[in-house]
Amino acid sequence: MSYSEDTFKKIIAHAKEYGFIFQSSEIYDGLSAVYDYGQNGVELKNNIKKYWWDAMVRLNENIVGIDSAIFMHPTIWKASGHVGAFNDPLIDNKDSKKRYRADVLIEDAREKINQKIQKEVEKAKKRFGDTFDEAQFRDTNPRVLEKQAEIDKITARYKTAMENGDLAELRQIIIDNEVVCPISGSKNWTDVRQFNLMFSTQLGSVSEDADTIYLRPETAQGIFVNYLNVQRTGRMKIPFGIAQIGKAFRNEIVARQFIFRMREFEQMEMQFFIRPGEEQTWFEKWRSARLSWHKALGLGDEFYRLHDHDKLAHYASAATDIEFNFPFGFKELEGIHARSDFDLSQHQQFSGKKIQYFDPELNESYVPYVIETSIGLDRMFLALLSKAYTEEKVTDEEGDTRVVLNIPPALAPVKAAILPLIKKDGLPEKAREIMDNLKFDFNCQYEEKDSIGKRYRRHDAIGTPFCITVDHQTLEDNMVTIRRRDTMQQNRVAITELRSILEAETSMRKLFEKL
Ligand code: ATP
Repeated sequence: MSYSEDTFKKIIAHAKEYGFIFQSSEIYDGLSAVYDYGQNGVELKNNIKKYWWDAMVRLNENIVGIDSAIFMHPTIWKASGHVGAFNDPLIDNKDSKKRYRADVLIEDAREKINQKIQKEVEKAKKRFGDTFDEAQFRDTNPRVLEKQAEIDKITARYKTAMENGDLAELRQIIIDNEVVCPISGSKNWTDVRQFNLMFSTQLGSVSEDADTIYLRPETAQGIFVNYLNVQRTGRMKIPFGIAQIGKAFRNEIVARQFIFRMREFEQMEMQFFIRPGEEQTWFEKWRSARLSWHKALGLGDEFYRLHDHDKLAHYASAATDIEFNFPFGFKELEGIHARSDFDLSQHQQFSGKKIQYFDPELNESYVPYVIETSIGLDRMFLALLSKAYTEEKVTDEEGDTRVVLNIPPALAPVKAAILPLIKKDGLPEKAREIMDNLKFDFNCQYEEKDSIGKRYRRHDAIGTPFCITVDHQTLEDNMVTIRRRDTMQQNRVAITELRSILEAETSMRKLFEKL
């Protein structure tokens, strides 16, 4: 389940070469931590959105969607706490002049120790073979225990420092754990300072009248401020949810991990409104529902890990991250948060409007509590791409290796490539006929350039699950060769069967049925 050393670099290069992701403004030397999605990237991204949206809105009768504006009244960000407290603790290395998030440096230091433990476990696993009891080993091996104690100590100090906003202590943890700057290799650190992550701009054309407004740093507030609108017009009864997909902007201090941390990104968030007192039950329900959504993709259960927050936001009563094993280690992919009635109460107070729900069963009114699920679309994209990227040894006329993206077929950008074996003898016409029939239901690509082997490889590289080849015999028997991406197996099927084969193997239904 691990990646090879330079996999991440290769994935980034592959994403560019095959039209998935480009650096923004590349011909002007790029804009840092901003990316554009190319012709294949946008298809994959749209498919991820659909998988999320339909799982939320279509499969749950009590969840509806909205699409709120990016610009919102500036007071919203005061009410939400973002103006006052949406800060990251930043620290600079005096030698490299590079800026880091102090909390991330500490988390990385902790993860490094964790990886050492993991290595001990792997070694022992090899040594003891089938009789190996991992839990017992972790509980008793002195080296592992010592390292675990180090982790626990960092965690305890970190938690207290974050809770107290103790910036000097954050710095001290970095010093005590001898964290070095990866660029300069030095331990020459500045003090830790707070940095607000919101981008601001001016509304209105006349500067004197101009009002500072913010680019939203999360989509959630657009849901909260529309709570009453949706509840009333949709006649929603608690419990119910509102889902939204949209852009969010954060002036991230450190943004060096490709699309993992961007300054402009997309979120898929769902706020689930519940009765006070039912938080724990719904929190657990959503945590498990979200994990199932991930696991249904079949990337491998061992790629996910649940991580409870050390430091809860001031409004939260529980928070868990679903972490994914990215090429640079386990990192947050999605957050599930119990937000209490914090947001709605704040908006009630700041707007002066009553935001309450009359519960006919209880015969009383209350401000609903909220469970939030929040996932970064771009991070989900990176998770899929990282896991899908595979270099394989094969032997055929195209050489002895191939790069294949094992993207779950339902999410693959192109479902089928339609390929006439050669560019004449009526084969292109026949292939076009097939294309013209399939294109209404599936994203297909017609390609006639280059040898068939080269075309297969190109489609392996973008993750196309099926290649359909039209040859001379097709003109006689209306059969085509269908080649599968993962096994490279080929067999002949009737043209009339193609639709049902593609439907059975590339539709999202199969994923939804697992939820
Ligand atoms: P991190 O600790 O990594 O900065 P966060 O805890 O601030 O993340 P949330 O505010 O919980 O993140 O945002 C919800 C989700 O939005 C995250 O799980 C992540 O998938 C995504 N996300 C947050 N910031 C970014 C970013 N800068 N670029 C891409 N995705 C992001």
